[in-house]
Amino acid sequence: MSDTATIATKQNPLQYITDQLNELREKGVAPKLRVLEGEQRPVCIFDGREVINLASNNYLGLTTHKALRKAALDAVKRYGVGAGAVRTIAGTMKLHMALEEQIAAFKKVEACVVFQSGFTANAGTVSAVLGKDDLIVSDELNHASIIDGARLSKATIKVFKHKDVQDCERILQENANFPGKKLIITDGVFSMDGDIAPLPQLCDLAEKYNCIMMVDDAHASGVLGRGGRGTVDHHQCHGRVHIQVGTLSKAIGAMGGYVCGSRDLIDFLYLRARPFLFSTSHPPATAAACQAAFALLDSPDGEKLVKKLWANTKFFKRELKKRGFQFKASETPIIPIHVGEAAKAFEFSKNLFEAGVFAPAVGYPIVAEGKARLRAIVTATHKREQLLRAADILAEVAKPLGIVAS
Ligand SMILES: *Cc1c(COP(=O)(O)O)cnc(C)c1O
Repeated sequence: MSDTATIATKQNPLQYITDQLNELREKGVAPKLRVLEGEQRPVCIFDGREVINLASNNYLGLTTHKALRKAALDAVKRYGVGAGAVRTIAGTMKLHMALEEQIAAFKKVEACVVFQSGFTANAGTVSAVLGKDDLIVSDELNHASIIDGARLSKATIKVFKHKDVQDCERILQENANFPGKKLIITDGVFSMDGDIAPLPQLCDLAEKYNCIMMVDDAHASGVLGRGGRGTVDHHQCHGRVHIQVGTLSKAIGAMGGYVCGSRDLIDFLYLRARPFLFSTSHPPATAAACQAAFALLDSPDGEKLVKKLWANTKFFKRELKKRGFQFKASETPIIPIHVGEAAKAFEFSKNLFEAGVFAPAVGYPIVAEGKARLRAIVTATHKREQLLRAADILAEVAKPLGIVAS
């Protein structure tokens, strides 16, 4: 008997996975991965088709920037391709320390620790800083990595209505006598609607109720604030946010996440953040590319790129509005086009792709059931004619689906 036959006669303990998958496929909510050939650019080839790319988080076009490429290639030549160990054993290279110092200076804080990703930065930090006797007060639309970190901490989690400062205060009042430490946590820019958190008001609450204030700036890094310094700079809340998380994977163009704060916070995370302790550090090329990115952001060229991003965003939003699209919540280059039903959002995205525009549909579990949408992201490197053409195609494809009036 062959091996496969042996397996076939046994029961398959993973049968339920196949059943669930088939159900998702039948509902039309199991999209395939789109595969990119060549570089991540404003126009590129996914699945063999040339499309206008409104899908990436490459806000400033840094994934293919020549300064970052050069820094990465030089680092490979000088240092090889891997770090060889976790940071706390032998995997801390001068490059890693230099990058952390550079980010801290850029963000005007005492210190910074770099993680393998924004996800691990959030999950590792929340779970290291808080424990089971503590309270986490979290916006209902916070990112999954914050939610996972909160769960890992075993703290009590209370969720306030999206961006609702009064609801946040209600929770803090109800827990005025809570004996443990308290953390208020919010995304700086929310990834699904592109709206901006009410950071100054949340800082007021943190100060009034003696809470730790933490913001996740994944979609604000390189986007908001002077030269892309993030929401704290955007709102002029310097010194009021104890823990600032950012990503190196979106506008910065490479990969990674970071936490900025006091020297003691960072030294503590060096000792207790589990992804830092138990997962190998960045390859030299990644750290070097990130250094080149921050050097660029800190220069007039970087500020120009951020300005271009915002000019393109205004332009594209105006063109979409002219064509009947609405996206009231969005305040950033993230443009959600609400569709409602997931299957319809996936159909919209698929038809768009066939017409030459790549903008993904997002449905459950990324957003709540019944709140599926298409998400388009503008970058600094899109050309005006590409954005105009994309707006035309979006309108053409949306009309027969009843998403805009025809
Ligand atoms: C993308 C994202 C992250 C994760 O960042 P990665 O570097 O991609 O792991 C964390 N928080 C928010 C709000 C994000 O949008």
